[in-house]
Amino acid sequence: MGKLLKKSAANDFFRSLQKKGSLYAPVSTDMVRFQHIKTPEALRSIDFDGHAFFPPKKYLLPNEEELFTIKQGKLQDTNQSLPPQFVVNVRLCDLNAIAILDKLYLDPDYPDPYYKAKRDATTFIGINCKREIDEYCFCGSMDLQRAYDLLLDDRGEHYYIDVRSDKGMALVKELPDAPEQQDPTLPKTSKVLDQKDLHQFFADKWWEGDNELCVSCQRCTALCPTCFCFDVKDDMDLNLQDGKRLRTIDSCHSADFTTVAGDHTFRSSRLQRYRHRVMHKLQYYKDTFERSMCTGCGRCIRYCHSKIDFVKTINEDFK
Ligand code: SF4
Ligand code: SF4
Repeated sequence: MGKLLKKSAANDFFRSLQKKGSLYAPVSTDMVRFQHIKTPEALRSIDFDGHAFFPPKKYLLPNEEELFTIKQGKLQDTNQSLPPQFVVNVRLCDLNAIAILDKLYLDPDYPDPYYKAKRDATTFIGINCKREIDEYCFCGSMDLQRAYDLLLDDRGEHYYIDVRSDKGMALVKELPDAPEQQDPTLPKTSKVLDQKDLHQFFADKWWEGDNELCVSCQRCTALCPTCFCFDVKDDMDLNLQDGKRLRTIDSCHSADFTTVAGDHTFRSSRLQRYRHRVMHKLQYYKDTFERSMCTGCGRCIRYCHSKIDFVKTINEDFK
């Protein structure tokens, strides 16, 4: 089912979302980043072309979140009902990343209540890429799905809105119907990742070149839309009666992350940690869920200090 939105009326649509909840959208300042669009005037600053530096996972997995508090030795109830929020102009790579996080955090047997509360309150509205953003994108190789409620597709004077859920339809029911279903063409990219069975390339020798350049800065994992490693720590007052439990974003590139009780470190070398990140993205997740955990957004290559490019390494060196 499709709807039509005149470009000149796009702000009216976003204004209607502002009336229902908090609105977040990419804004171009020193970089493109998702920001809270608080006022009707701020709608003018919404960016329709750029690729956000930070992925929108922060609306579901903040850098630090309080899981619960303890007061006078008693566990306090945490209110898990959150007000609605809308995150708009999200690229298809990042929408697929949300679907991947959903798979992990909303497992029917073990849903994560903190993630679920945010996910239930959040609607992500996509925008289709008119062109590949730059030479780092390789989403065309990553079998991206139409994993969205709504996706805006540029058709000149208007946006065709591809509606894929009842939740999405409820937001656009007032807009005119498109005369016929016109599925948006999903992005193609000139950068291509050769699909290979990476189990055959586990030996250290395949990873030594990239490892020479990696400094374990963790930038790639912070910016990856599907990286979700976390740490849990208790922050107690000296009276030992009051405190809180926090979940903070961590990284598999950190040696501390793989250190367990008894001071045993599972991946003590930088090479082991670098290899684990790439293997998890491209192979281990696929072994279980039959799709890659990487959506080809290109951030981990685009913003790596050393411009380490695992796509190039896999394509050219893994033979
Ligand atoms: S951004 Fe580059 S240098 Fe930093 S940890 Fe990732 S791969 Fe290594
Ligand atoms: S591994 Fe790199 S290209 Fe793939 S989703 Fe993460 S940041 Fe994007």
